[in-house]
Amino acid sequence: MLIHNANLITWGAENQVLYGYSLLLEGDKITAIAPDSELAARHPNATRVDAHGQFVMPGNICAHTHFYGAFARGMAIPGSAPKDFPQILNKLWWKLDKSLNEEDVHYSALVSLIDAIKHGTTTLIDHHASPNFIDGSLDVVAEAVIKSGLRASLCYEVTDRDGEAKMRAGVRENIRFIKGMQAQNESRLAGSFGLHASLTLSESTLEFCRASLPAESGFHIHTAEGLADQDDSLEKSGLRVIDRLAKHGILGEKTIAAHAVHVDAREIQILADTGTWVTHQPRSNMNNGVGVAPVESMLRAGVKIGLGNDGFSNTMWDEWKTAYLLHKSANGDPRRMDGYTVKEMAIENNAALAKVFFPQAPLAEISVGAFADLIFVDYYPFTELNAGNLPWHILFGFNESMITTTIVGGEMLMKDCELLTLDEAEITAKARELSAETWKRYEDLT
Ligand SMILES: [Zn+2]
Repeated sequence: MLIHNANLITWGAENQVLYGYSLLLEGDKITAIAPDSELAARHPNATRVDAHGQFVMPGNICAHTHFYGAFARGMAIPGSAPKDFPQILNKLWWKLDKSLNEEDVHYSALVSLIDAIKHGTTTLIDHHASPNFIDGSLDVVAEAVIKSGLRASLCYEVTDRDGEAKMRAGVRENIRFIKGMQAQNESRLAGSFGLHASLTLSESTLEFCRASLPAESGFHIHTAEGLADQDDSLEKSGLRVIDRLAKHGILGEKTIAAHAVHVDAREIQILADTGTWVTHQPRSNMNNGVGVAPVESMLRAGVKIGLGNDGFSNTMWDEWKTAYLLHKSANGDPRRMDGYTVKEMAIENNAALAKVFFPQAPLAEISVGAFADLIFVDYYPFTELNAGNLPWHILFGFNESMITTTIVGGEMLMKDCELLTLDEAEITAKARELSAETWKRYEDLT
């Protein structure tokens, strides 16, 4: 496939904006990049895709999400509104996840993946929970991912909150899925070992999970998202959350510690020293009223931080914008969280994190040999757009509704706003039917 008449945004080590360029895609990779006049002449027989002067750039990566939360959209929480994060978990998430059956899990994933294709998010790192359908649940999510054509890493959330048998089932599901993925060396699917959070994991369960972790894999766990996680950890172990996880060998270069909102200086140092990944989800943190993660301090201390969405819509530029605004507002200082810092998390760091799961070729960059994961953006800048000021064009000008075409691994998933792998009308009609039943089961539990 030869994409021509494109304005390229390359990201990568040396971000460039190249006007009037063409890209050659062969298999799942980018194999040539050159000005329009050169590439077309060299490959006269390649299938042509005219970008019509749109910006063509790498697809976005989401470092932490929850497909299973999709059916919460528009759902009423009975009784008084949750007053804090533990109540949000109790009243909403820990009842919604118990209401999901096999079909719900599949359709929650499908609707989330449609949202991702339409909004240009091409790689997603998911954290799944469905306590009444654990065995094989990751295969059901994986089947949806394969249908969609997107790239995703999956895990199952191990927790003690539903008793020992379900805790063990969660561990089994992670091990089974990770080993299956490792055996296949599949480049669009990967697995990690999901853990809920320190506050629902006992000392013995943490020990059991560490002992069960397959080689060459890591954990994906929520950390210090609310103060309750710290209170619980101190009570259970006398240690703060990050110290506790470090003691159990949960941290490391393949582990994701989502949130890290309430971490102290020593915990930040441990995260940096162990090379643990932290993900930042400002929309979720604001929605839950849990506080503001010390993201800039952590970056300065050498912690690797990526950007996720925690199940919010797969509009990663919205997450950019929220991060950009939140830290200015919270600190009363417009110099905080500049555009380059947001870009560092969302582009460089997310790409490096994705590499943990998909090491076969570079992601989130247009370079020869990189995965052909691309989006077309129908954006007409009315001021100069160059490599230096690009983050601010994204923050103030780009919008996910401008994305017209999404390609993953050289395969067209959406062309000129038409979805090619998933039927949105059919899938959402079925999801509305299923979610009505899910909501009933949820109400019965409350
Ligand atoms: Zn989360």
